[in-house]
Amino acid sequence: MRFTLDPELAQFESQVRDHLRSAMTPELVEQIHTTGVFHDYEFTRGLAEKGWYAADPAQGERMSPFQTQILIAELHRADAPMYLGETTRMVASVVRQVGTPFVQERVLDGAANGDVTIALGFSEPECGSDVAAASTRAVRDGDDWLINGSKMFTTNGHIADYVFLLARTDPEQPKHKGLTMFLVPTNSEGFDAQAVWTLSGERTNITFYSDLRISDQWRIGEVNAGWQTLLLALEDEHASGWGPHIARLLEHAERWAADTKDASGIARIDDPDVRRRLARAAIEVEVSSLLLSRCAWLEETGQRIEAEGPMSKLFSTEALERASQDFNEMVGPDALRSPFDPTAPENGQIQQIMRFSLGTTIYAGTSEVQRTIIAQRGLGLPR
Ligand SMILES: Cc1cc2nc3c(=O)[nH]c(=O)nc-3n(C[C@H](O)[C@H](O)[C@H](O)COP(=O)(O)OP(=O)(O)OC[C@H]3O[C@@H](n4cnc5c(N)ncnc54)[C@H](O)[C@@H]3O)c2cc1C
Repeated sequence: MRFTLDPELAQFESQVRDHLRSAMTPELVEQIHTTGVFHDYEFTRGLAEKGWYAADPAQGERMSPFQTQILIAELHRADAPMYLGETTRMVASVVRQVGTPFVQERVLDGAANGDVTIALGFSEPECGSDVAAASTRAVRDGDDWLINGSKMFTTNGHIADYVFLLARTDPEQPKHKGLTMFLVPTNSEGFDAQAVWTLSGERTNITFYSDLRISDQWRIGEVNAGWQTLLLALEDEHASGWGPHIARLLEHAERWAADTKDASGIARIDDPDVRRRLARAAIEVEVSSLLLSRCAWLEETGQRIEAEGPMSKLFSTEALERASQDFNEMVGPDALRSPFDPTAPENGQIQQIMRFSLGTTIYAGTSEVQRTIIAQRGLGLPR
């Protein structure tokens, strides 16, 4: 068992870091904070030119699981605009497997080079965890489908070219059996995206589908086999680990502790309580990283990721929440000043990361859902 990167992986990591240092310009960082939109076409094309973006439709994945893990970790650590790229990659992989030639021709090349983007339209105002309860309707009309309904939290739906939409096509069937997936062009008449702002200032959307008409060629997978098609997308989702966000939070906290003195002129870094909090977060960074590495190792050795992915997601998001609340308490009221306040300690990032951390325990499966999967698949407990 080795805990260090191979020389090639270490070199890859430093190449990614170098690229991100120059690509994450102060203007881009400001743009992300002022718009709340975590996507930038120029940044994405920069990744694509390096071969570090979506999977190549012709060759399949070009990066090994460990390279992918390093890339995603560095993107997280740089707080880079990456989420629309990830959703596009997930859907492109499904389109490659079960999309019609019509869709493949229009989507795959652009998805690989960053020109075509795809958001996810699964959750609805009335259902998120129980996604199979979706009630957005698609009704067959000759060679077309007419779609009516709404989707909640369609992140980036206002800028994406397509929404990968889960719709109910047969309400008479049991809920998992009457669903079908579609790729809906967002320039279709009847599509609307309205902003929903999260606690961390991120923009997501509620999207509306009003008598939206698309041809059957935009269907992905068989009619009423939407659940199986959706699982293909979720299977392709890399196990997530949010430790790199704890690492960047820790960098802020360490710098603050080194640079700040208490009322009696003693550096905060010399306070045993401050050191205890820093050490605790450092351990959580390490554990998060190891849990995620285990997933990459399973993938690399051709084994299935069962409960290990949920363990990585659950631990690292809850650790991020813990550490960020801890550091806000450590810094005190000053921590609460906004990133837009030039005198805020560490550019307001300590409170910003705390607000961001709360969403991480919700999307891609809430903590409760992850615990259920770990209990059933990992521990073999009954439903
Ligand atoms: C910032 C953000 C971005 C998102 N982006 C997208 C996106 O791009 N596309 C998309 O489709 N969705 C997106 N989502 C939606 C996200 O996946 C859902 O919010 C999530 O699945 C939870 O669904 P819900 O909000 O309806 O809560 P609910 O499912 O109603 O859950 C409410 C509470 O009940 C708990 N709960 C629910 N069911 C169970 C159960 N069986 N056992 C135990 N506890 C349970 C949950 O854990 C939660 O605490 C996003 C969400 C957020 C916050």
